[in-house]
Amino acid sequence: MGDLLAALASLRERLTEIPQADERRLQELKTELLGRKAGALTEILRALPALDADSRKAVGGAANALKRELEEAFDARERALKRAAAAPPPGGLDLTMPGRPQWPAGLHLITQVVDEICDVFRELGFTRAVGPEAETERYNFYALNFPTDHPALDAQDSFYLGGDVVLRTHTSPVQIRTLEAYPPPVRVVIPGRCYRRDPFDASHSPVFEQIEGLAVDEGITFVDLKATLAAFARRVFARDTTVRFRPSYFPFTEPSAEMDVQCQLCKGSGCPACKQSGWMEILGSGMVHPAVLENCGVDSEKYTGFAWGMGPERIAMLRHGIPDIRLFLESDVRFLAQFTGGGEAPR
Ligand SMILES: [Zn+2]
Repeated sequence: MGDLLAALASLRERLTEIPQADERRLQELKTELLGRKAGALTEILRALPALDADSRKAVGGAANALKRELEEAFDARERALKRAAAAPPPGGLDLTMPGRPQWPAGLHLITQVVDEICDVFRELGFTRAVGPEAETERYNFYALNFPTDHPALDAQDSFYLGGDVVLRTHTSPVQIRTLEAYPPPVRVVIPGRCYRRDPFDASHSPVFEQIEGLAVDEGITFVDLKATLAAFARRVFARDTTVRFRPSYFPFTEPSAEMDVQCQLCKGSGCPACKQSGWMEILGSGMVHPAVLENCGVDSEKYTGFAWGMGPERIAMLRHGIPDIRLFLESDVRFLAQFTGGGEAPR
């Protein structure tokens, strides 16, 4: 037994060779010390059965402990060699090179405006609703009381994807989808992207954002419409903003009205931005047409509602004095970064 313990002690001294070994030497050492056939430690373990019980316990315990230590040392050296192989060669690393610049991201100005407007309406009890951008003519036009000869149905004005599927020209189809899915009372605010065959110039874009709203319940009147939209204007623009409603026409509302807010620049006295009128047009609105309610299976004798729609781009342009709608879509970081909290493009 004394011989075996002495052999284990001299084996233990070999541990110091492992951290210095290169790959080839490491394999040699492994075979020499732990090899299954003729490894030094294997020889010692093989001698165990010939010993008496006490000696077997002492030598076996020490041999197994050493085996674990050797295995850990081999593993550690293998990992270190692998890491060294993956690292760049000495001299290939230029510590004086400038670091990669960070490019902090931010929300697009239009996304910020959409979120803000939806938040204002959420406080007034409206839930955010969304729908598909490719719609059938039924959802985009007919259920909304568009006559079949309305110009918007023409391929000159709208993007058709084939058959009766059209890229939605407004977010109003989500009103229909909401009324079909949920019985009144309903209060939703509907943000989303819309498409029209418009020119791409300073005030038009074939793709644009819209935010609509819809409230349907028993006893809703034009007073609810005016109060809700005036409260919205005072939240998004100045607190003392005055609004006015002008008669208008939409197929899906009756009566219909445009809402103007007092010009934020001249406070109503007239300036070039408001074409000297003192007012800025913000949104279209009206009482939901009874035919629209009936198209969705809602009893128009029992329920009434109001709806509105506005362009977040227009609101952002008025607020920040942005002269051209194309700036929102050109991905020019110099423009966008002004509204995202200071992030600048890497140079
Ligand atoms: Zn003005």
